[in-house]
Amino acid sequence: MPDRYAVIGNPIAHSKSPQIHTVFARQTGHDLTYRAILAERGALEETIKTFQSQGGKGLNITIPFKAEAWKLVQQRSPRAQRARAINTIAIAEDGSLFGENTDGAGLVRDLLANHGGHIASQRILLLGAGGAASGVMEALLAEKPAFLAVVNRTAAKAVELAARFDQFGAITGGGYELLMDYPGYSFNLIINATASSLQGELPPLPGKILSPGGWTYDMMYGSEPTAFMKWGQSQGAARSLDGLGMLVEQAAEAFFIWRGIRPQTTPLLAQLRREAGSFSR
Ligand code: NDP
Repeated sequence: MPDRYAVIGNPIAHSKSPQIHTVFARQTGHDLTYRAILAERGALEETIKTFQSQGGKGLNITIPFKAEAWKLVQQRSPRAQRARAINTIAIAEDGSLFGENTDGAGLVRDLLANHGGHIASQRILLLGAGGAASGVMEALLAEKPAFLAVVNRTAAKAVELAARFDQFGAITGGGYELLMDYPGYSFNLIINATASSLQGELPPLPGKILSPGGWTYDMMYGSEPTAFMKWGQSQGAARSLDGLGMLVEQAAEAFFIWRGIRPQTTPLLAQLRREAGSFSR
């Protein structure tokens, strides 16, 4: 009987995770199944319990359940503990749940290994203060940027996030007006961790905040460039990247936690880009 894995979210129909983990399983010769499970809001705990009772070994957790799942697990890695959001659960033999957040490792690996980018000594702007932003803070700061600014529509959430991680580096948080307060200040890398691209919207960004040669990175991905990716191009970004690589890399980290082997990501990423015609330059 193959080991069972799944991703739980809402919506979930368009998740690429089943395809990704099926390719990883084939590549590594591991006998497992991986499916997508739709959970109604308020039904996460029950959905996890049902999956456990069917002998499930591990789960990915996605929108909108990452923070709720964090509360449900019995153990967390130190990084997941601080992120207050998890995207991966390993289910032990005794039924206890271990929570990890692999989003930060996925983002950093995509930026550095897949795209040859830089984080160390860079001035970085992170847009958003939800689960995705919270999940990548520590991994970004571990790479020692010169400075990390977090801005969010609800300013108080960015202020709280910055305060929670300020032990790890030079960091500030606030509303978008923060970007108006320092005319002439610019960033080498601007990362969009808001859900605005899902709605085809752009966060309220002033012009001239991207340094010459700077990069933009949208955690979202799709077959067309997002509003934020188009904004990056209009601002002269040297690279305007999407989040498909982050998705594949966070999945590889999860696979490693469950199976003790790290799958190769480059061939799969190339395959997904060919299939979706997805855009990143
Ligand atoms: P959350 O719902 O937890 O947070 C959403 C964030 O987006 C909040 O900061 C919210 O601001 C902000 N926001 C929403 N709409 C707008 C808007 N129109 N303008 C400005 N800000 C807005 O979502 P997540 O953090 O979990 O996910 C965010 C994005 O990251 C999603 O697009 C998701 O698909 C993507 N993602 C991609 C991953 C990958 O592997 N590539 C992994 C994880 C996430 P406020 O607090 O004011 O409401």
